Amino acid sequence: MKKIALLLLVTITFVSCSKSDDHLENFVKEFPESLVNQDKPLGTANIDGQTPININASFTEKISTLDPVIHYGAITLSNIENTEDNLKVNLSQADKTDNFITIKGNKYELQQFHFHYHSEHSINGEYGVMEIHFVHKSSKGAYAVLGVLVKNGKANTSLQTLFDGSPKLKGTNALSNLLNLNTLLPVDTNKYYAYSGSLTTPHLDFTLNEGPLTWFVFKNQIEMTNDQFKNYQGNYSKENFRVIQPLNNRKIFENIR
Ligand SMILES: [Zn+2]
Repeated sequence: MKKIALLLLVTITFVSCSKSDDHLENFVKEFPESLVNQDKPLGTANIDGQTPININASFTEKISTLDPVIHYGAITLSNIENTEDNLKVNLSQADKTDNFITIKGNKYELQQFHFHYHSEHSINGEYGVMEIHFVHKSSKGAYAVLGVLVKNGKANTSLQTLFDGSPKLKGTNALSNLLNLNTLLPVDTNKYYAYSGSLTTPHLDFTLNEGPLTWFVFKNQIEMTNDQFKNYQGNYSKENFRVIQPLNNRKIFENIR
């Protein structure tokens, strides 16, 4: 009896493995056109397409695409801003030009990145301790944001540099350090969820935010220690996140490359 059960288990495992080996070829390779907003700069009414959302991983449409291509390197920390709500790092013009993503060959330059806590997006109902938003803009005024959820774990030295370098009160600081942006991304950036959403002004939960913009939320999270999080909270004592908005009839795509 045991032998039969084991054989059955081996067979099932084998079948599911061989299935997953060839499944990549069955999915769409092009990034969905419906998520690209080249001709729709921010400001368009976006009633049914607000951010953030809960990502239910059981109801995604799977794709296998090379987009977005991320061209990140080291930036100067010439403008670390305490907005009173959160920490925001503004890029110099030279760093904007050198740090960008492309979607379907269109270039979106990184403008700034900033922090939320707890995370704005949830995945299967679970929040991250924090979320970082990397905000990009195309020459036509279209926006695309990369969202990185942060969980408790190992120390991240780049986060330490930023949290230590934050102004204690509203204002900006300039540091001489360089910061490699890739240290704030998960190792595997191929795996993400993408959907069409909006800006997320925290607390304005019943006011529509501008959109549409292309959202990417990485499946894998980066880590920081609880002490690092407390360090951040030392300067930003109030939570800043917008509550989950209805998905309505939007599709969430899942890149499985
Ligand atoms: Zn944000």
